[in-house]
Amino acid sequence: MVYDVIVAGGGPAGSATAYHLAKRDVRVLVLDKSEFPRDKICGDGIAPRAVRTLYKMGLQEQLDGQFNKFHGFRFAGAGKAVVENKIPPTPRFPDHGYIIKRVDLDKILLDHARAAGAEVREKCKVTGPLVDGGRVVGVRAVFDGEEIELEARVTVGADGPHSTLGKAMGLLVNDPLYMGISIRQYYEGVEDIGDYLEIYPEKAISPGSGWVFPVTRDGVANVGVGAMLYHMHRDNINLHKFFETLIHDTPHVAPKLRNAKPISPLRGALLRVGLGGSKVECPGLILVGDAASMINPVSGEGITYALETGEMAAEHILGTRMEGRGFHIDPAQDSFREKLVDRYQHYFNMGTMSIKWGNRSYFMRPMLAVVSKNRRYREDLIRALMYLRH
Ligand SMILES: Cc1cc2nc3c(=O)[nH]c(=O)nc-3n(C[C@H](O)[C@H](O)[C@H](O)COP(=O)(O)OP(=O)(O)OC[C@H]3O[C@@H](n4cnc5c(N)ncnc54)[C@H](O)[C@@H]3O)c2cc1C
Repeated sequence: MVYDVIVAGGGPAGSATAYHLAKRDVRVLVLDKSEFPRDKICGDGIAPRAVRTLYKMGLQEQLDGQFNKFHGFRFAGAGKAVVENKIPPTPRFPDHGYIIKRVDLDKILLDHARAAGAEVREKCKVTGPLVDGGRVVGVRAVFDGEEIELEARVTVGADGPHSTLGKAMGLLVNDPLYMGISIRQYYEGVEDIGDYLEIYPEKAISPGSGWVFPVTRDGVANVGVGAMLYHMHRDNINLHKFFETLIHDTPHVAPKLRNAKPISPLRGALLRVGLGGSKVECPGLILVGDAASMINPVSGEGITYALETGEMAAEHILGTRMEGRGFHIDPAQDSFREKLVDRYQHYFNMGTMSIKWGNRSYFMRPMLAVVSKNRRYREDLIRALMYLRH
């Protein structure tokens, strides 16, 4: 049997791809090595742009009331200025985001794809692509201890930043300018949190950046720190030391955590950012989400782009239907990467450059001092950080 589409990976990118295809009666199979619900190392911040996509997928009722919403941003750490503002109202985006633990969000998304008609196989590890004459025609996998081969007209790699399929087809680009590492830990008893997504480019951890994201209103928070590989190599940064500094010795974050207790291990993962860490496609295969290096280089936010590229991949695949042959992905005729470049490259390039050159306290301090005093500037900063434009 040949599937129309096989999606490797059932995170936000894979589930979104499968949901949009299944809704249009495409025969789609999702494979994930894990059994859901499963944890995923993340800050759990669901920005307004991602919320727009989740609501469009019909999930508003399921999310509303169940998870903590935030309506504003707090951004501080270089100097005394604190930029604090409500999310500016726009006709296109909701005025709020959520903090949802990935153990919950990813199960909701995968179930949603299943309910739309996608076939899902959990505990099925993709080990590589099936290749015929240079074209990917499916995947090899291990399921129930057995090696299997599954064929498809189109294969989608939604298998995260270490993408097995992307790696096997030579699509991953390991450039430290487009790679980062972040680590996070859950705490209880965190003070002065609630309605804000809080980002802290604290001077003591420059050029890294920290965050405190409120999972609940009663003091449970996701606390983390991240830095670009480029900076880590250059400045010999130890991220665990940065984390210790963030929680014990910074003016904005340490006071919030003085009575807090960790309730999970400290764990980290790789980020591929700014579209520079992946070539995205080859005949028969396209990559989405982290596998396609679709993380915002400034905010480290990738759920938005996982969901959006999932939807774009579905549209792209639907547009390649050929009479009598089903779907047929050929980058030489119709490039998925070009569509991503059109939509995101300009914004991502500005982000990559501003992190490379501007993520320093001597630059941030005067910038935050000016921005904090003017509402329009504050709103512009939020729009820029969260790409609340198109
Ligand atoms: C510490 C940290 C904090 C972050 N904070 C935020 C945040 O607050 N907000 C935000 O928007 N983004 C954040 N991100 C980024 C975000 O986590 C990712 O962008 C997002 O998870 C991408 O979704 P995805 O579906 O592409 O990949 P993933 O979520 O990684 O999903 C990939 C799926 O593929 C499966 N898989 C992998 N290999 C195989 C295989 N060989 N066979 C079968 N299945 C496989 C995995 O089990 C997984 O379910 C953070 C990242 C890190 C590391």
